[in-house]
This record gives sequence, structure tokens and C-alpha cells, in this order.
Amino acid sequence: MATLAIPANTIAVLQKYKFHFQKRFGQNFLIDPHVLEKIIDAAGVTDEDFVLEIGPGIGTMTQYLCESARHVTAVEIDRNLIPILEDTLKEYENVDVVNEDILKLDLAAFVKERNAGQPIRVVANLPYYITTPIIMGLFESHAPLKSITVMVQREVADRMQANPGTKDYGALSLAIRYYARPEIAANVPPNCFMPRPKVGSAVIHLVRHEKPPVWVEDEAQMFGIIRASFNQRRKTLANGLSNSPQIHFGKETILEGIRELGVPVTVRGEELTLEQFARLSNILGSK
Ligand code: SAM
Repeated sequence: MATLAIPANTIAVLQKYKFHFQKRFGQNFLIDPHVLEKIIDAAGVTDEDFVLEIGPGIGTMTQYLCESARHVTAVEIDRNLIPILEDTLKEYENVDVVNEDILKLDLAAFVKERNAGQPIRVVANLPYYITTPIIMGLFESHAPLKSITVMVQREVADRMQANPGTKDYGALSLAIRYYARPEIAANVPPNCFMPRPKVGSAVIHLVRHEKPPVWVEDEAQMFGIIRASFNQRRKTLANGLSNSPQIHFGKETILEGIRELGVPVTVRGEELTLEQFARLSNILGSK
């Protein structure tokens, strides 16, 4: 099978199978060999690696991954793509395709069963409508991951790297900081995809920290506090937290906690660093 990264080959496959793109699945297929080479390069995949690909589409990136990895498992939600993948990947023996919603996959169990619990790499051109739940799900699964290399919207890549006090700073920026070191590997314009998305994209490479950069007693509680403070961005941190149905501390306790943290009680959540959120969570947890 000739590489699908050449637009004419992608078009030939789409016509052969009379495939119609499904907007609701965020289908934008890559049609640029240079971008694919950059992704594989950034991911650092070697013949020792087990790779999970999320959303293989017609198998364009999967072909590249099969050339470099020991094994590739590709999880695709759209069942219309399964017969196409059987065809486009038939030359490779180191791949299997699972017809499943990635958000329903128990990743920790998957890694245990499929790679004897050894760390895997995740590589994907993500469906943009569920970028954040997929990335958060990968981290929160606590499955052993060597790295995550993903194509996302440029604007999401900016949010991942944002600093406190900026408009892009939010729960995603803090989660990324807590779990991984982000690097932008490439900026990718809309014309590298079929059909063209409306926005620019970027390849981001996340290397998981061996140990989080801050110590927190109750991780889930800290992320609950973070989410609650960004749900009501324009409110003070104290009001954001006391208005949130997910936070069970009373307003007085919250105010006391903020004072103990050593910041003004009028502070907004978007001004706090990861280290301060961790301390606030530990302080509130001890009350
Ligand atoms: N990897 C291909 C490429 O680069 O050309 C396709 C990328 S396309 C942006 C996203 C892919 O994810 C589509 O094939 C889509 O059907 C699939 N997808 C969407 N939602 C999914 C989900 N919840 N679980 C698994 N795959 C999903």
C-alpha cells in the first residue's frame, strides 16, 4: 500500500470506499508527509515501543507508526473506518485495530494486559471536540505512559503552556504542569488536512514527570478546587469556591485557608500558581 500521506492516495481510498467524513467525530485526515515525519520524530518512537494511537482515521499515521514501533494498537470509534483500515494496514503484522470509544477504554487495564504493565507511548492526531477529556483521561488513569504526542488546536496548545494571570491560563494549564513537561514540536497549518479545519494546529509532546513538581495530599481534591475556581473566572477565589456545588468547605473555612496561604482574600483563582493551589488544597484538607 502506497503512503496515504500523499493527497492523491488518500482521495483514492476515500473514493474506493465511498467514505463520507463525519463532522461529529472530528475527522480531519493528515495529508502531509513532512508533518507526519515531524510527529514520529517528536514522539521518539523506537522498535522497542508499544504505541497506542487514538483515532487512526484511514491509517495514515498508523502506517508511519508501524514502520517505527514494536507494536501499535489503534482505537477508532467510527465503524465505517474499520474495513478501510484492514485494507490500508494489511502489510503490517505489528498492528491491531480496536473499534471503541477511547473515553470508554480502561487504559490502566489495557496497558497491564497488552504490555505487561510496561510504559507505552500515546501518539494521535486528536479529534478536537474531545481533546481535553482525552488528555485529562490519559493522565488521570495513572496508566504507565512514557510520553504523549498529540496534534491539537493551536489555541489548546497555548492554553497548555499558559502562565498564571494570562487569559489562556486555566485548569488545563495546571493539569499539564502537574503531570508533564510540554514542548511544542511543530505548528501545522489547515492545508495539511483533508478536509481543512478552520483553525491552525500544533503538535505537542508531553513527557510525564516521574514525580509531580508539587506535593499534594489529595490530588482529586486539588483538581476539584482548580476546576471550581476557573468555572467562575471573574469571581474571587473565595466566592468561586463557596458557590461551587463540588466544594464542601464552608465560606469561613475557605477564607481562613486563603489567609493562611498568605494571599489577599480578594485574590482570583487565575492568579494562583500550581504550588499555591497544592498548598491551599493541603490547608483546606487539614481543617
Ligand atoms: N489519525 C488520522 C489522521 O491523522 O489522518 C485521523 C485523525 S482525525 C483528526 C480524528 C480521528 O479520531 C477520526 O478518525 C475519528 O473518527 C476518531 N475519533 C473521534 N472520536 C473518537 C473517540 N471517542 N474514540 C476513538 N476515536 C475517535
